[in-house]
Amino acid sequence: MPYLGLGVYLSKEGSEVINACRYAIEAGYRHIDTASLYDNEKGVGIAIKECGVPRKEIFITSKVWNSDQGFDSTLKAFDDTIKKLDTDYLDLYLIHWPVKDKYKETWRALETLYKDGRVKAIGVSNFLLHHLEDLLTSVEIKPMVNQVEFHPYVIQQQLLDFCASHQIQSEAWSPLMQGKIFNVRRIKELALKYNKTEAQIVLRWDLQKGVITIPKSVRREIILSNAQLFDFELSTEDVKSIDSLNKNLRVGAHPDHFNF
Ligand code: NDP
Repeated sequence: MPYLGLGVYLSKEGSEVINACRYAIEAGYRHIDTASLYDNEKGVGIAIKECGVPRKEIFITSKVWNSDQGFDSTLKAFDDTIKKLDTDYLDLYLIHWPVKDKYKETWRALETLYKDGRVKAIGVSNFLLHHLEDLLTSVEIKPMVNQVEFHPYVIQQQLLDFCASHQIQSEAWSPLMQGKIFNVRRIKELALKYNKTEAQIVLRWDLQKGVITIPKSVRREIILSNAQLFDFELSTEDVKSIDSLNKNLRVGAHPDHFNF
């Protein structure tokens, strides 16, 4: 799974998402993160078909939406997703949110898809420790990824450690706090110190924390710049100073209190 991917939440279906994926692939990204909720799987599929890079070199993630959870409805949602993406398999399929009383049935459907070879990896999103512990009591195949809100204000170190100890790869959504990262003083200071952008500092920190990251942008120069992470390293001290910014302040919903 490539460490860096392009997020496409709120990238509009049609030319906006097609162009964003195209810019990303040109810039070297080989991983796109979409979801049926984003309503842009068609555009993602078109961009991948037209980009000139073989399908097997691009890692595509999608997610089953909350209202589709359950065994049969997840299988159907998966069919719709790959039809829209115009592909015959997914690289990663995630349960988008831990819908109470549904996620275990949904997981059984993901296991079925995995065993049938229709998806190469299966995982979850927005699962807290207690959701994972509960799910793990009944699985045949363990989740391979947990995609969660992760940025300097929400670190959830205990969750990261739990995932690492169960070989579950952690992945960051809203790694740039949906744009709010640019107002954080410590990040600005580090950007000056390393002569990098604030986004590059935070995305590099993700990398050094071992967390896969999927920043979203629709602008060509930003997509390119967000990928310039591999030519510098934050000192251990500076990684710790970003860790110390944590205040459990979310930009998105809390996984125990969402109402969608
Ligand atoms: P991000 O933290 O990636 O921030 C995206 C915002 O920051 C956009 O407004 C973008 O603007 C702006 N931006 C990006 N890079 C820069 C930069 N270098 N300089 C200035 N502005 C910048 O937020 P997202 O919420 O989009 O999270 C990333 C991805 O995570 C999503 O796209 C989606 O794929 C996934 N996700 C998953 C969730 C889940 O429940 N599993 C929930 C939320 C997101 P612009 O586009 O105009 O450049």
